[in-house]
Amino acid sequence: VEAEQTADPPVADGRAGLPPAAATAAARVLRRCDEVAGCTESPGRVCRRYGTAALTAAMDLIAGWMRDAGLETRRDAIGNLIGRSPGGNPDAPAFALGSHLDSVPDGGRYDGALGVLVAIEAVAGMTAGGAALPFRLEVVAFADEEGARFHTTYLGSRAYAGRFDPALLDRTDADGASLASACADFGGHPDRLVASCSPLPVLGYLEVHIEQGPALEALGAPLGIVTAIAGQTRAAVGFRGEAGHAGTVAMALRRDALAAAAEAVLSAERLAQETPALLATVGRIDVLPGASNVVPGAARITLDVRSPNDAVRKDAVRSLRGACVDAGERRNVGVDWEVVQDDPATAMDAGLSGGLAASLAAVGLPVHRLPSGAGHDAVVMAEICPVAMLFVRCAGGISHHPDEAVAAGDVAAAVAVVSDFLRSRIGSFNPGVDGGNAPGRVEP
Ligand SMILES: [Zn+2]
Repeated sequence: VEAEQTADPPVADGRAGLPPAAATAAARVLRRCDEVAGCTESPGRVCRRYGTAALTAAMDLIAGWMRDAGLETRRDAIGNLIGRSPGGNPDAPAFALGSHLDSVPDGGRYDGALGVLVAIEAVAGMTAGGAALPFRLEVVAFADEEGARFHTTYLGSRAYAGRFDPALLDRTDADGASLASACADFGGHPDRLVASCSPLPVLGYLEVHIEQGPALEALGAPLGIVTAIAGQTRAAVGFRGEAGHAGTVAMALRRDALAAAAEAVLSAERLAQETPALLATVGRIDVLPGASNVVPGAARITLDVRSPNDAVRKDAVRSLRGACVDAGERRNVGVDWEVVQDDPATAMDAGLSGGLAASLAAVGLPVHRLPSGAGHDAVVMAEICPVAMLFVRCAGGISHHPDEAVAAGDVAAAVAVVSDFLRSRIGSFNPGVDGGNAPGRVEP
């Protein structure tokens, strides 16, 4: 994490400059996060997967709050909830703010929902103040980011951005229901996800999200500006050795597939420990035949390599592939390397991020910048417009877990920063050549 101090905070905790309205708004956001958490598939836990009654209930609640904030609401073809500031040409380009409303099973109450609710507060301040904006504001609650039901990624933002792959409609969930039928049951229009409609430009996208990691907490900072969302390579590596009796096959003659895999696991850990801005994880290992008295004949590992720097990630993947092959050669074990996912890093827009930094300084907070190791809807939105993200510190870096927690003061800081950004800086934001003319936005 690179820390950059742009202003001395007025007090040690950096919150003395926050307007009182931000604290009121933050208290409302936290109450609403609790209320949204009550919209769940499994009482007592947070579980809100795409297309479920729990997600519909959460959308209905939030649609009401959007209307209270003066926004005009609608649902799109996949079921995203959109609240738009009123007035003027309804087809005028919009600047979007938001996050997702679905959750993983047994998730937390702030992952996603916090970003939607903070956006509503900030946009409400604009509509209430009657401030003149050069364009409309839209708050989007994406219907599916986690992909917990259909094992997809970013369904909601893909549909919103006009990047939806209709082949996904045939995907089925664990009960055999298709995505197309789930979409229809959810009030969506799967047929319109196939049809190409006239594109509506999106000028830019700002997402507030809990950090889901411990960096801000370690820095003692309530907020951080995301530099880039890490690129990610996932590989499946198979090791083919020879099974044998644990009591009779001599050590020198063994072709132990698991021992070769173990070398690969440690190579990945070592390389990531030695390389700045690199994370490497082996999260799963399968061994055959998997008996205590049999030399492992086959092993298979998953490898997850991430970095905000694509060159660093690609070098690491090449090097780890070499380490797997070397381990296999030393042990006379065959190695099968299969890349199952390969996504580049997503850069945040310098202009929007600079505006966020100026707003952090304006409300008396230090400016910290950090990469995101987790994926977000901003990855998809970056295909059609400039994007920026603001991270909110979360307790212990815990996320995708019931213990997820944020501090009211940090949420107030986020409301104050986004409000200042909309009020003071968005007018000077110049989307540039590509922003605002992005192709392919499908507006059902
Ligand atoms: Zn999230």
